[in-house]
Amino acid sequence: IFESVQPGVPDPMYNLKKRADSDLSPSKVDLGVGIYRNEQGAYQELQCVKEAKQVLAKIDLGHDYELTTGNPGFLKEASGIMFCQGGLASVQTISGSGAVHLAALFISRCISPYIKVFVGVPTWGNYKPALDLVGLQTIEYRHYDPSTRSYDHDSTILAIKEAPEGSAFIFQGCCHNPTGADPTPEQWSEIVDALKVGRHLPLFDLAYQGLGQGLDEDAYAVSLCARRRLEFLACQSLSKNFALYGERCGSLHVICKDSRAAANVHDQLRCLIRWEMSSTPAYGSRLVKLVLQDGHMNADWKAELSAMRERLASLRLQLFEQLTRILYTPGDWSHIVQEKGLFS
Ligand code: PMP
Repeated sequence: IFESVQPGVPDPMYNLKKRADSDLSPSKVDLGVGIYRNEQGAYQELQCVKEAKQVLAKIDLGHDYELTTGNPGFLKEASGIMFCQGGLASVQTISGSGAVHLAALFISRCISPYIKVFVGVPTWGNYKPALDLVGLQTIEYRHYDPSTRSYDHDSTILAIKEAPEGSAFIFQGCCHNPTGADPTPEQWSEIVDALKVGRHLPLFDLAYQGLGQGLDEDAYAVSLCARRRLEFLACQSLSKNFALYGERCGSLHVICKDSRAAANVHDQLRCLIRWEMSSTPAYGSRLVKLVLQDGHMNADWKAELSAMRERLASLRLQLFEQLTRILYTPGDWSHIVQEKGLFS
């Protein structure tokens, strides 16, 4: 039966990670996956998470199932760091990747399998496979202009204007993977206006909130859509900003016109989660909920996140200065300091 199975599509990130792990050089630096590393080049657990683990160990909740739709306290707190408003259908997901998958599945099953999904390239390598998996068509446009080494606003606006009415558009809300090039608030405003005219459906992916310019600044595009009363989906990952990568903690928020629509959307998401995986992992969301609900741990989290963000900005500056003032490398390297987040 299994002899006819062919090998899967190679994943460059998977292969690069395996090669990096097996490289024995003491001075190796892994620049592949989007993970924050400390001065020693190692993973670093947040102090606030360490504290929440101790609190959780004392309460000892055991390992019972979560509700199909996730931990309600976590979802309330998680949606609060992205935006504060009603008309929301929020469910827990297997981190940001699971949120993108669930969003795609929901669009394909509950909106239309024929909806075209526009993605600016280059981009995170998982969008197209996630859309293919649920039978949605991906259409690419240019997000980045290599000649100016910056975000390509004209191409984005043109794609939005020329897309068939009611298309879907995936946007990374901040810290674009892999270019680090994000639209400015003014450009976001034009994007949102154009989306509204075309009656398009925005799908935001926020995987690096807090690592760009600040928690609120990085959620600018999402909150702008909410203020301008667009209906949209927002995928949220807590992998990076809580350093909870392996706990697979995330959520999908669907912002609806009214509470009746939100209730129905929530009910459909409940079905999709139930049929696919019954419920989501409990531990990471319990930790995030504890940190966000506790005044002291919450303040510590914000301080630790600011320290990560400031260190990233300072590393960019150091790299820029090495290339220009010390090595006199030909060319213009200013994009390195203009970009945000982990990527360049
Ligand atoms: N979106 C983007 C743009 C990403 O870079 C990543 C992680 N590399 C994710 C989503 C998903 O991350 P996770 O599943 O760990 O939350």
